[in-house]
Amino acid sequence: MSNTIFQKIIKREIPSTILYEDNDVIAIEDINPVSPVHALIIPKKCIETLNDLSEKDATIVAKMILVAKNLAKELKIDQSGYRTIFNCNDDGGQTVYHIHLHLIGGRKLNWPPG
Ligand code: 5GP
Repeated sequence: MSNTIFQKIIKREIPSTILYEDNDVIAIEDINPVSPVHALIIPKKCIETLNDLSEKDATIVAKMILVAKNLAKELKIDQSGYRTIFNCNDDGGQTVYHIHLHLIGGRKLNWPPG
C-alpha cells in the first residue's frame, strides 16, 4: 500500500488542522483552500480511487458523507449551501490517491465546474 500524504497526516507525521476524527475517518482543513470553507473528509483505510471501492466500503462512504453534513452545520454553511466532491483520476482532478471528500462552501460556487 502506498504511503500517501493523507496516511502521513493520519499518523501525525505531517501536521494538519483536524476538524473531526474517529476510528474510521479524519477531517482536516485543506492546505490550499478554494473557498472560505474547504475541508477534506478522509477514510483512515487507504482506498486509492473511487474505482477501487467495493460493497464492503459502503458504510465508510456513508459515514464520510454524514461527517461532511455535520461539519457543514458546525462551520455554519449548511443554510447558505455547500458542495461535496470526490475527484477521480486525472481528468477528475485527483492529485492524492487516497479517496477523500471535499467539502467546500462559504461563497457562491459556480456551476458547471471548470
Ligand atoms: P484532489 O486534487 O486529490 O481531489 O485533492 C487533494 C487535496 O489535498 C487538494 O485540495 C490539496 O490542496 C490537499 N492537500 C494536499 N497536500 C496536503 C497537505 O499536506 N495537507 C492538507 N491539509 N491538504 C493537502
